[in-house]
Amino acid sequence: MDLIESPSAMTSWARDQARAGKIIALVPTMGAFHEGHLCLMRHAAGLADRVVVSLFVNPLQFGPREDLARYPRNLPRDLELAAGAKVDLVFAPAVDAMYPQGSLTRVQVAELTDTLCGARRPGHFDGVTTVVAKLFNIVGPQVAVFGRKDLQQLAVIRRLTLDLNWAVEIIGHPIVREADGLAMSSRNIYLTPAGRCSALALHRVINFARQRAATGEADAAALTAEVRARLLMDPAVRVDYVSIVHQHRLVATPILTRDSVLALAVFIGTTRLIDNGLLLTEE
Ligand code: AMP
Repeated sequence: MDLIESPSAMTSWARDQARAGKIIALVPTMGAFHEGHLCLMRHAAGLADRVVVSLFVNPLQFGPREDLARYPRNLPRDLELAAGAKVDLVFAPAVDAMYPQGSLTRVQVAELTDTLCGARRPGHFDGVTTVVAKLFNIVGPQVAVFGRKDLQQLAVIRRLTLDLNWAVEIIGHPIVREADGLAMSSRNIYLTPAGRCSALALHRVINFARQRAATGEADAAALTAEVRARLLMDPAVRVDYVSIVHQHRLVATPILTRDSVLALAVFIGTTRLIDNGLLLTEE
């Protein structure tokens, strides 16, 4: 497996692959790999001839009071894990290689970024779409794999790709969970043992809501209220949002449809966790 740090060297490598007729799949990440990331990489390997994983803790997508400084970083461990997950190349640029002095351009997707995490994390999605636009230009993939755990990110990137006419197929990979249901996340390591127990409520209330939907509850407001009340039974859980929205358009679905997804964000201590699940459709 190769490691490239310079964007121009990355582009040369990708052009060589394209000249040789190879299809490239890109898996954008911020590192601190867990099984969720590795599933995306292995899935990408089944879709393309070459898998490129970008590993970049993108400062542009962190708010001033967020965890940029303490975000977990461990390049040697990540390289070893990626090498075991059929990855051909890790692209790990430095911050000033991605945003050299003088860079002023931001890529912004409107409307879809106004709700859910976008409403709570001002500027976050501008950071995401700017870095993804740059990665698409640098790597020129035909396929890019993103996790459905970041539901809004996936919807925003699908829109971005369509709107900017990139010929990149966007693949949404199902959420990868621990055996007890907790969605894998690089931020789970911030949780204390008690906090981790509290975090299981996310998956529990998604299952509860799916059950209620399956047995006839179709009113999104009523279901949202029930889910919120269940989450608040644990004083360690602070609800950031509970929303039922269309999985792609992210608008409220007052009456549940097959596209209705329950999207959750909570704080446990200072750790913010998100999770989601379709209510009437198998994942
Ligand atoms: P991150 O490194 O957190 O930016 O995540 C990189 C990619 O992995 C994103 O597309 C995430 O949606 C995806 N991802 C992270 N955790 C999971 C998970 N538990 N299941 C599926 N995809 C995930």
